[in-house]
Amino acid sequence: QSKVLTIGEVLVEIVATERGNGFREPVKLIGPFPSGAPAIFIDQVGKLGQAAAIISRVGDDDFGHVNLDRLKSDGVDVSGIDVDPLGTTGSAFVRYREDGGRNFVFNIRHSACGSIEIKGPAAALVETCTHMHVMGSSLYAPSVVEAILKATRRIKAKGGTVSFDPNLRAEILNSPGMREALAIVLGETDLFLPSGEELFLFSPADSEKEAVANLLKGGVKAVVLKRGAAGASYFDATREVSLPGFKVTEVDPTGAGDCFGATFVTFWLAGADPETALRYANAAGAKAVTRSGPMEGASTRAELDALIAEQRT
Ligand code: ADP
Repeated sequence: QSKVLTIGEVLVEIVATERGNGFREPVKLIGPFPSGAPAIFIDQVGKLGQAAAIISRVGDDDFGHVNLDRLKSDGVDVSGIDVDPLGTTGSAFVRYREDGGRNFVFNIRHSACGSIEIKGPAAALVETCTHMHVMGSSLYAPSVVEAILKATRRIKAKGGTVSFDPNLRAEILNSPGMREALAIVLGETDLFLPSGEELFLFSPADSEKEAVANLLKGGVKAVVLKRGAAGASYFDATREVSLPGFKVTEVDPTGAGDCFGATFVTFWLAGADPETALRYANAAGAKAVTRSGPMEGASTRAELDALIAEQRT
């Protein structure tokens, strides 16, 4: 059976209960919620019953244990999460603005997950896992970049597969070595999952078709384009499938792309046809936006089946 690995930040999110601009005035907060794009991704993979593991580092504190407990209970192998007695678990403070955008205060690079090493149980996971998922947003610190590139190359060299979600935010795009690392990861990628304009960041072109064609010519086997509420599209050398999004009321968009990607990868690894994988991924993305809290949006197979049955046309 295949086993999915990801590497990157595990943190808690603490959210302002009222909308507004940033944190320069006292504001009511709620949290901690388990978070981190790779953590949300792998939680959704585990929740679908697919073998899954994550390599990361947390402090030996409540913020770290909130994550370990959740991931473990959703079926994720957490043996690669190093619990550092001298470290502090990463955190992100988030406040939604009136315009729907978000302001963040991150403590990631200088927290436990700012340094991740592949040794001991983590090194064993790289040997046993058969699929690597890279979150572009995880390439935020030199040791993490090194760990991700090492695992990606190793899993590919063993005959495994690689998926890549750029998941880029302006706040982190200028981290040292990030752009170079993004290019290396793209070179190893089988399944590329950009969202909206991210496609053109990696494949500058005049049209979406041309951008996708150039990626496929460059060695990517399939491109899945996320289109928010409008749904998603799949492209490979011979097929093109687009499906509309499910109709839901958006409460919190955090984690939609991660749950979408996790579900697509899980179905793709199981050999599902692109239309089925896309339908379940759209359902997972839609379910994710209906719940507040980043990782709270992950769904079981039964919940996805229920949404699909409810909106079958
Ligand atoms: P990202 O979070 O990576 O920016 P998107 O915002 O495109 O990605 O969301 C990922 C997927 O989640 C979409 O392709 C879609 O399937 C689903 N999704 C996102 N927002 C909504 C929404 N408001 N209604 C229904 N589905 C949504």
